[in-house]
Amino acid sequence: MSPRRPLVAGNWKMNGLRGSLPELSAIIEGARQLANVDLMVCPPATLLVKFAKAAAGTAVRIGAQDCHSEPKGAFTGDLSAEMLKDAGATAVILGHSERRTRHGETDAQVRAKASAARRAGLLAIICVGETKEDREKGKAEDVVATQLRGSLPNEANAESGVIAYEPVWAIGTGVTPTPAEIAQMHTFLRAQLNSQFGAAGEDIRILYGGSVTPSNARELMHVANVDGALVGGASLRAVDFLAIATVCGHESPQPKK
Ligand code: PEP
Repeated sequence: MSPRRPLVAGNWKMNGLRGSLPELSAIIEGARQLANVDLMVCPPATLLVKFAKAAAGTAVRIGAQDCHSEPKGAFTGDLSAEMLKDAGATAVILGHSERRTRHGETDAQVRAKASAARRAGLLAIICVGETKEDREKGKAEDVVATQLRGSLPNEANAESGVIAYEPVWAIGTGVTPTPAEIAQMHTFLRAQLNSQFGAAGEDIRILYGGSVTPSNARELMHVANVDGALVGGASLRAVDFLAIATVCGHESPQPKK
């Protein structure tokens, strides 16, 4: 097995104002004690420049939450991957279920955005995940495999892409899959990546996301093929985010790079 260094990324969603900087500063401070895990904060676009400046020269990376597939043009209200890079982002979350559901994003659009991220030199964190209904109908793996195939560019690799498995029914609900369910899905995703990308697929990190908190992180991050977490609500408080990162850094089953 190739070594995969854990990544813990915080998705702040539509939360945070300029006054939120102390929270990032506390994360930066706490990150000094964490050697075996990559840490990333994804604030709203309005805070990217400020956060990137504050995090410059530290171990904390700053990511965005979406991008347009085109580099520039008449797309009112949108931001290109190049603009996010220019603002200081090193990564971008793509295909989050909130964008798939509320903005009707398709796999093809997510894939075009992922190619744009690669073009701009951003790491794409590509989200996949089934609904409760999909799972109850026994279709979870089919749905996730379709999303994965449709959303990943052909040239995806560990330098340009990370997968986040986020069951829609676990996001913001306080409900999580069992460790056995996560193990099954992550092992399935690993096999899909390997068959699509060969040896390069083995290096692509697969994060788990959906109601990760300091109290369940130990159990969830111990699962095979879980290479870290995409954290929503619990990433808004530095103390909680760092507690999750600490568990990943010290106790991930994956060998560290
Ligand atoms: C998310 O939205 O990516 C997420 C995982 O949210 P939460 O941790 O709040 O469930």
